[in-house]
Amino acid sequence: MQDPLVQIESNVRGYARLFPAVFNKAVGSTITDMEGNDFIDFFCGAGSLNYGHNNRRAKAALLAYIQADGIQHSLDTVTAAKVDFLEAFKRIILTPRALDYRVQFTGPTGTNAVEAAVKLARKQTQRSHVVAFTNAYHGHSLGALALTGNQFYHSQFYGSHNNVTHLPYDGYMGEYDTSLLLEKMLRDPSSGLPKPAAVILETIQGEGGINVASDRWLQRIASLCQEHDIRLIVDDIQVGNGRSGKFFSFEHAGITPDIVCVSKSIGSGMPMSIVLIRPEIDTWKPGEHTGTFRGNNLAFVSARAVLEYWTEPAFENQIDERSQIVQAKLRAICAKHADHAMSVRGRGLIWGLDLRCGDLASRAIQNAFKEGLLIEGSGAFDQVLKVMPALTIDTALLNQGLQILESAVDAAVA
Ligand code: PMP
Repeated sequence: MQDPLVQIESNVRGYARLFPAVFNKAVGSTITDMEGNDFIDFFCGAGSLNYGHNNRRAKAALLAYIQADGIQHSLDTVTAAKVDFLEAFKRIILTPRALDYRVQFTGPTGTNAVEAAVKLARKQTQRSHVVAFTNAYHGHSLGALALTGNQFYHSQFYGSHNNVTHLPYDGYMGEYDTSLLLEKMLRDPSSGLPKPAAVILETIQGEGGINVASDRWLQRIASLCQEHDIRLIVDDIQVGNGRSGKFFSFEHAGITPDIVCVSKSIGSGMPMSIVLIRPEIDTWKPGEHTGTFRGNNLAFVSARAVLEYWTEPAFENQIDERSQIVQAKLRAICAKHADHAMSVRGRGLIWGLDLRCGDLASRAIQNAFKEGLLIEGSGAFDQVLKVMPALTIDTALLNQGLQILESAVDAAVA
């Protein structure tokens, strides 16, 4: 048989070059290749494994469900698994946060949620324009790509840019408050900005380089949206599900978006995406937005099982405790290499170590891999190491991974 890695490299597009191994097993924060090498996972399936690989709660629920011949797929029919998920999501997540949203099942991937959110905002406002931000990442299907604020992703795909204006994200212009620009453009008819249907944003840009919007900026954008009757869409696909330290990332700023996109870790490894809609703006009619795999009941079962973490008052403290460990180590790395002017940004358990140079970051990623740590780059130049361990990671393993990261950076700058 041909070496599976060679076969994959020559026939399939993927991460094979970044992580040259064939993985076949994973538990919690450890992923193992076919030769029995263990790797600590700080990559977390790009944020889709917040509760770790084969999370024990999700796994037990899935095994029991399959054993009992539970329904796998149901499209739009009502099933016990769907009802269970919805009831628990409301009781555990929405009600304690005083949030009133309708849930729309949008399909397997985050992009599906983004597309549905923007379509709804356009339909409901009867306007077509959307404001997004520099360095935003909202997906790669044509509609979502138009919102993604990185020209590299656009350059080959003519015509994906309709009806979107990208404005500078918070921090993009240093100390300057970029929400003032939006305010000015909305008020000034000569700005050329058509009245938008929606503003879409990530409160922390994951793929864009771990850029954390200030609470104040988010509050200003939210109040501008309210004042001008524009739908505020928060894309919580990567930084929702507890990644920021709270279930929804926008909770920190105390804002209430009109529409929220949730995916990745919601299904704890099972593909699932949902859009949360303020009831007053839910103008969907039956059949207006469909898609076959919106009824993946295995995802509902897995999603229901991991909601249980949010019934435990200590869970947020655990995330915070791990967050402190990560921050301390990343700041120590920066201090040690002060001559490289590295910087650290993040919140909860999404942290970026900005090495200011894509080559340096790529060397550090390769070094880390050789020592048993999976970590990914992010940012416009792939210059930011994205430290994104599972929220459930054991602290000893977290420290071990951070130690590998430090040695990997040391070796990259040497
Ligand atoms: N929005 C954000 C913030 C994301 O991080 C991603 C994926 N990285 C997406 C949308 C697209 O999700 P998917 O790849 O599941 O379609």
